[in-house]
Amino acid sequence: NGGGVAFIGLGNMGAPMAANLVAAGHDVTGFDLVPELLARAGEGGVRPAGSAAEAVAGAGTVITMLPGGRHVLDCYRGEGGVLAAARPGTLFIDCSTIDVADARAAAEAAVAAGHRAADAPVSGGVVGATAAKLTFMVGAEEELLPEVERVLAPMGARVVHCGASGAGQAAKVCNNMILGVSMIAVSEAFVLGERLGLSHRALFDVASTASGQCWALTANCPVPGPVPASPANRDYAPGFASALMAKDLGLAVEALKATGTAAELGPHAAGLYAAFAEGAGADRDFSAIINAIRERSEA
Ligand code: NAD
Repeated sequence: NGGGVAFIGLGNMGAPMAANLVAAGHDVTGFDLVPELLARAGEGGVRPAGSAAEAVAGAGTVITMLPGGRHVLDCYRGEGGVLAAARPGTLFIDCSTIDVADARAAAEAAVAAGHRAADAPVSGGVVGATAAKLTFMVGAEEELLPEVERVLAPMGARVVHCGASGAGQAAKVCNNMILGVSMIAVSEAFVLGERLGLSHRALFDVASTASGQCWALTANCPVPGPVPASPANRDYAPGFASALMAKDLGLAVEALKATGTAAELGPHAAGLYAAFAEGAGADRDFSAIINAIRERSEA
């Protein structure tokens, strides 16, 4: 395809991802609306551009890592949008976590403008982005895969092709609905165990090797002790902030509505995290939801 990589959105995730592309020898031009973030990326070897349109002018690939669907669609199609500014046939890869419908709309607009497009949301957080250990969930036509994989490889440990346009976002929203619900289930079980006189260690030793086993328990354990690396051991400093979990479950609720899916627990979990993220959990890891369960329990 030729040309360098344009990287739009150099925030918590975008900055380390762009740095890993630079480290792998890519010619990376970047843009972010926040001048300080653009300057910091520049110090790391990203060539700073004055606008998104300027960043994509000489690019063969455009990667976006923006907060939400509105930002991606505005960046693609809005005034000074990158679809109009890029040269024909540019490969657009959106790595943001956005609504499935927005992802499909973004890809359709890219194709209509003579480009090629993939959605590739990630799992692994800032730690994974920094260590180049992200998992990418890709929605794209089969023939784009080799090129998409080549671009994403320096930033990730795994690239999973999930299907056509939007399928990456679909996989992400389903996975995070499992995660959100299972963290609440694990937290409720620990609080019940406490009230039944069961030690955290005993419940962990049983459930982690029995049918209650899941990532929320064995990697992100909501009580301190059994899993030393889990956020519970550092006063729930994120990790994966409850506000981000609330955002992702909001996308799940939209997808459930759009598809008429009769889910009960996903929407319920979405409501619990939304309330938690607006209150005590604002800057805490999502596993701190266990504290909200304790607080609501009878004295
Ligand atoms: P962030 O807010 O730190 O970064 C987003 C950046 O986009 C900001 O710096 C913002 O200034 C910039 N931006 C917004 N609109 C722009 C525009 N039109 N042009 C240029 N720059 C623009 O967010 P983040 O934590 O890096 O997350 C990015 C995406 O990745 C989100 O969709 C998030 O849900 C997803 N994600 C985050 C994590 C995580 O742990 N942080 C994990 C997985 C997925």
